[in-house]
Amino acid sequence: MKPKFNFINAKLAGLKKSNLYRSLHDSKASGAYIFIKGKKLVNLSSNDYLGLGHIKIASTQIQSSSRLVAGNDNLFKKLETRLASHKRQESALTFPTGYMANLGIISILPQKDDLILSDELNHASIIDSCRLSHAKKVIYKHNNMQDLEKKLRKDRHHKFVVTEGIFSMNGDFSKLKEISELCRKYDAFLILDDAHGDFVAGTDGRGSAEYLGVAKKIDAYISSLSKGLGAFGGYVAAKKEVVELAINTSRPFIYTSALPNFLLQVALDKMSSNREQKRVKLWKNVGMVRKGLESLGYKIGSQSQIIPIVIGNERKAMEFGKYVLDNGVFAQPIRYPTVERGSARIRISVTAWLTDDTIQQSLDVFEKAGKKFEII
Ligand code: PMP
Repeated sequence: MKPKFNFINAKLAGLKKSNLYRSLHDSKASGAYIFIKGKKLVNLSSNDYLGLGHIKIASTQIQSSSRLVAGNDNLFKKLETRLASHKRQESALTFPTGYMANLGIISILPQKDDLILSDELNHASIIDSCRLSHAKKVIYKHNNMQDLEKKLRKDRHHKFVVTEGIFSMNGDFSKLKEISELCRKYDAFLILDDAHGDFVAGTDGRGSAEYLGVAKKIDAYISSLSKGLGAFGGYVAAKKEVVELAINTSRPFIYTSALPNFLLQVALDKMSSNREQKRVKLWKNVGMVRKGLESLGYKIGSQSQIIPIVIGNERKAMEFGKYVLDNGVFAQPIRYPTVERGSARIRISVTAWLTDDTIQQSLDVFEKAGKKFEII
């Protein structure tokens, strides 16, 4: 008989061989920096875009269960009312994470005879959510309206288009204006996962759709509280019947413990904090980093706080990441299956934590790295 764990070790060996092995490193984030093995590095990998992620936790008792079972702390209602008005929607519902909000909504809206059209670069949580649905799933080419329209012509009962607002690994905005026009033409629902645009883009940080002038055209917003807001959790904001259906049928809502009340309070506090000032700082930093990289010779396609440096080869991306880390900058290499094979990249994530000095320090390191790896 074969030793029981052989297949696992073989799989791990395969990942190592193809430079796709991942490991966890002890680290501690602190403002613009992150400490790894006692070394202080400029943190260019945080999704705490506005720099709001520092919290003090008060003594409290958590409810430790699903909201339908163990009670429904009144902070849920407070936060959900706030989130609904933030998105100018009738209703909102929180989930433990943004990942679960996607699972919880995309799995219940499209039904067996329906069609889901999903952008090819959509996040893993959207892909997994589509897999949970009984509807037919079709992928359309990234931000490609001709391909989307061709696929929308299929005859199905209900049609759903799901896209990110700011794509998490490319940093480009979704063509929401065009998508919403197609959705109107083909009577399709538009679901927007705005995990990276929420609190970051648009007036008052209302998100990508607000920024692109189509906020009213979105049928359901899904988002994370763990990125731009610097808190923790996920939510959907939509018409009240969507929320009602989720409370009644969404397994990732019903069959898991809800967010603990202290995190609801954290989210509420962050909603009332000086977000606008931080947002202005963030966009100033984004401009500095983008211009700085371009003037070094990097080709930057991104329009947002997520700035990828596409390297291609997985091993080279790992070596690039290690080089910048050894020189004082933490910017994570991203590889397959998060991005396509052969399109490995360094994903720079700009935050409002960064100062002019830490930005300049990082640019100096990227200049040396770009020359060493012959990217610039
Ligand atoms: N959607 C997108 C586009 C994301 O990038 C992520 C997380 N990286 C999520 C959803 C999940 O959010 P959370 O971290 O709150 O689970």
